[in-house]
Amino acid sequence: MTDEMMNYFRVIGEIQNEIKKASCFDEAIKVGVQKILLAFPSEYAILWYKEEEALHPYYWRGSKDFTSCIHKMGEGMVGRVYASQKAERLFEYKKGTDCETDKDFEGIDIISMICVPFSNQYENLGCIQLARTAESEKFNEEIADICEILANLIAIQIDQIEGLNPEWKFDKILLSARDIRRSFQNGDVVTTVLRGVNIDVYEGELLVILGESGSGKSTFLNIIGGMDSADSGSIQFMGKELSNATQEELTTYRRENIGFIFQSYNLISTLTASQNIDLIGELVQEHLSSDEVLGMVGLQDKKNNYPSQLSGGQQQRVSIARALVKKPKLIFADEPTSALDYATSIEVLSVLENVVKSGTTMVMVTHNEEITRMAHRVVRMRNGRTYDVTINRHPVPATELVW
Ligand code: ADP
Ligand code: MG
Repeated sequence: MTDEMMNYFRVIGEIQNEIKKASCFDEAIKVGVQKILLAFPSEYAILWYKEEEALHPYYWRGSKDFTSCIHKMGEGMVGRVYASQKAERLFEYKKGTDCETDKDFEGIDIISMICVPFSNQYENLGCIQLARTAESEKFNEEIADICEILANLIAIQIDQIEGLNPEWKFDKILLSARDIRRSFQNGDVVTTVLRGVNIDVYEGELLVILGESGSGKSTFLNIIGGMDSADSGSIQFMGKELSNATQEELTTYRRENIGFIFQSYNLISTLTASQNIDLIGELVQEHLSSDEVLGMVGLQDKKNNYPSQLSGGQQQRVSIARALVKKPKLIFADEPTSALDYATSIEVLSVLENVVKSGTTMVMVTHNEEITRMAHRVVRMRNGRTYDVTINRHPVPATELVW
């Protein structure tokens, strides 16, 4: 067995152990690069990380400051490897063949260079570049192959550490519900619907509440949306207690902060799309124009159509636009796609996904398990109680959902 192979096995063990111990993403990256260098000593090792559509030097070893070396997608060795997801192997590196890469190593006598993708099963994070000078041996196929595997292993290992997920960036609680209880009385019959529900909503997230029909989802949404009152329990919105608010205060809370989207679109049939929207927008001082919000849901050209002149999916998009017009902090969507066919559902979910991306917090209620895959977090509800909360470390784009 070659020295390189021996090093390789040793390093695999160390990657598993030491990345697990890292306390933050930066530290895990640092450990990872150091482990690659342990297997293949090189004068330069750079981890390029994708941020805002460019590759930035995130962490490196070597006697040069790479801070200002930034590559656009597809540009230079680094940009090409990221875009193609294929390693580049320049065992005999000659200056003058790749201007972008030459610029990074200006004044340094590089003789051999490899660059491998840094990605796991979910994400293309960046790439790792190794360069050697005349002081050391050139890279070869074996080194390049193992380096590719190590980079992959490190990316997977980092991804598996709880709390290092760069995707989970929500830390501020917008709404907090504690021990919410609600029963309905019809004559002598009392139906207990909510038996102590606890849910936090984080600013910026898409929270999906999943539960079978009758589990109490709509009842809960109506209560935290200020349309119904709980028998007991506490609701705080931006730190302010709502459970003892007067009707008037609840109306203000709803009007100023909340947007609703329902399964049945609830559009007024005698008003056009833009009139339906303006009607709601005018309730608050600072609102968007109906043209703006119709643009956001891709329906500018339907502004003068009446609901009966729109398809189900289009009507639901108008109702999303209507929810957006007040610039709400929080949108509640109660089974927004239940009345729609599959293809139209995906269209509507994509619009909702964009709403969240543009900064609006959303709580979506559904009985469709597949929809949970696009959420940042999922709360499962059964028989009036929440019994499970999961963080989705890799939300799936709405267009990839299948049912
Ligand atoms: P989900 O939205 O999860 O389907 P709901 O919150 O709509 O569930 O309803 C949960 C249960 O509460 C159902 O059994 C329903 O019949 C009952 N319920 C809801 N609202 C009322 C009401 N106003 N009066 C009596 N029972 C109600
Ligand atoms: Mg319901």
